[in-house]
Amino acid sequence: MNMTDQDGKGGGQAQGTIVFDLDGVLYLGNAPIAGAAEAIAILTAQGWQLLFATNNSSKTPRAVADVLYDRAGIVVDGDAVVTSGMAVASYLVDHGLRSAFVIGSPELRATLEEVSVSIIPHDQAPDAVVVGLDRSLTYAKIGHAARSIRRGAAFIATNLDPTIPTATGEDPGAGTIVAAVAKASGRAPVTCGKPHQPMLDLVSAKISSLPVGNSVWMVGDRPETDIAFAKHAGWRSVLTLSGITKATSAIPEHLIPDHVVRSIVELPDILKNDAEKRSAHEG
Ligand SMILES: [Mg+2]
Repeated sequence: MNMTDQDGKGGGQAQGTIVFDLDGVLYLGNAPIAGAAEAIAILTAQGWQLLFATNNSSKTPRAVADVLYDRAGIVVDGDAVVTSGMAVASYLVDHGLRSAFVIGSPELRATLEEVSVSIIPHDQAPDAVVVGLDRSLTYAKIGHAARSIRRGAAFIATNLDPTIPTATGEDPGAGTIVAAVAKASGRAPVTCGKPHQPMLDLVSAKISSLPVGNSVWMVGDRPETDIAFAKHAGWRSVLTLSGITKATSAIPEHLIPDHVVRSIVELPDILKNDAEKRSAHEG
């Protein structure tokens, strides 16, 4: 062990990558998780590279970085952020889907336009129907999406999270809207966000561009999204009880993480102890 590790200010020595979910981990609704910014600073000083992966498709990466600063006082580069909207954009490009009818936010439409997907209105036939969180959802939008899918358009979902946590409870998430379109069209979507392959491809590409050790951890609050993502990727995982999951008894058996913490504040010690145990095993 070197001295710099003991005071948590070492830096330099690459430990690996930690992929963070945001909502319920670093902030909850509009409020920070107490101590999150300090924990992030300690992990950075310990030599961890940090990435931020969110199923929220209603913000650009730069806007997500701004939210992290505004809500939690955490400074990150937009390049360290991956959103489900970006995963949809790369899926459409990879599959030659050049036009889309979008149920989603203006920012999701902008993300798709950035990769030259044409956003087409409800009176035209699209290559794809993209469904994400849309706070101005209408009956007519569901109807046009379902008709287009039945006529052969690809059905693409940003994510299937049923709800989003807020300070006053849970609001409907993208998964609720996707379920309506699935019911009306009789089809199941290709899903791009966590825990699915398009998002994993994007995050993996980021990780391989970083000068890091080989250890990758995923930290999140939703077992079926975040822990499933880690297991799909072959990464180790930490579930935090600061968000949507309130007790370990609520974790499905096939989605048990490597560690459970009450909040991200415990993470630096957990990872340090884990590394020491592993090196003791190896030694
Ligand atoms: Mg979350």
